[in-house]
Amino acid sequence: MSTPVFSSILGHDPIIARLQNALAQGRPGHAWLFHGPEGIGKRTTALAWVQSLFCRQPVTVADGLSGCGGCVACSKCAQGSHPDLQRLELLESKSRISVDQVRELTRFIAFTPLESAWKAAIVDDAALMNDAAANALLKTLEEPPSGSLLILITQRPGALLPTIRSRCQQERFQPIDAASMARLLERLMPERSAVERGAALQLASGSIGAAVRLCDPAILEHRNRFFRDLDTLHERSLAELVESARVWGEAERSSVVPELLETWFGARIRDSVHQGRCRNLEPEQWLESATQLVRLAREARIFNLNARLTLETIFIRLARMFGVAF
Ligand SMILES: [Zn+2]
Repeated sequence: MSTPVFSSILGHDPIIARLQNALAQGRPGHAWLFHGPEGIGKRTTALAWVQSLFCRQPVTVADGLSGCGGCVACSKCAQGSHPDLQRLELLESKSRISVDQVRELTRFIAFTPLESAWKAAIVDDAALMNDAAANALLKTLEEPPSGSLLILITQRPGALLPTIRSRCQQERFQPIDAASMARLLERLMPERSAVERGAALQLASGSIGAAVRLCDPAILEHRNRFFRDLDTLHERSLAELVESARVWGEAERSSVVPELLETWFGARIRDSVHQGRCRNLEPEQWLESATQLVRLAREARIFNLNARLTLETIFIRLARMFGVAF
């Protein structure tokens, strides 16, 4: 027996209800903007939404219609092989989505569908479009081809052109609550122990994508070593600090650096509040530094920037904050 595709998503019930209802009304609209923090289910929801639109035997659920999860169209969507769905993402080693990528997508969406009644496209992360790409997409949003559905996904809606935002129906995704996160992580990572899942949830600040990344036996070891490295930055030479940045900049470690950095800052901010100061720095100084450096680490990951160089910058700025003169 097949399972309705939306039923696997936890934590975004009001949004899913609106999408299912729009399907039942036969009015899915032409353009949507899904925004909210990274890794909380925006892309999964967008795919389930398209799958439901293409499904050959949609099932009736409490709030409207959902894809069945078992027909040919649902299977092709799940496998990423449906000819009427195109996904546009950042190309490897690029930091922006180009106008050529957007033009290819707008041509795709203008053609007659092959297997369903609709053509659908998902752009993730839409805020990574350069100016020319955003303007090319705007033309399609101004005059959407009939039977076309465009879903834009981003963590930073403020970075989109206001004219793009205003032409989309917007859904803001909130971080998932702790109990739903624990249930979802157990379902996604059953092979991990409860202790490993617990540690991942603690570091993930409401992002299920981050929790999956952090659900690794090595992560506790990484966390302890990262904390030790940051706590001793002021005792090390510049060459040692650059070597640390190289080690943490390697692919399997750098993907979790923003979460580790945020957790480390969290601990130091708490220390400084309890003790009045930490390392001779006031809570406000810790907060300001945390805001800037965690943001830098996250943006480096989003924009695909060189992780080693970003970490060198972060380590040097922290060492200077601790009074080291490099
Ligand atoms: Zn189906």
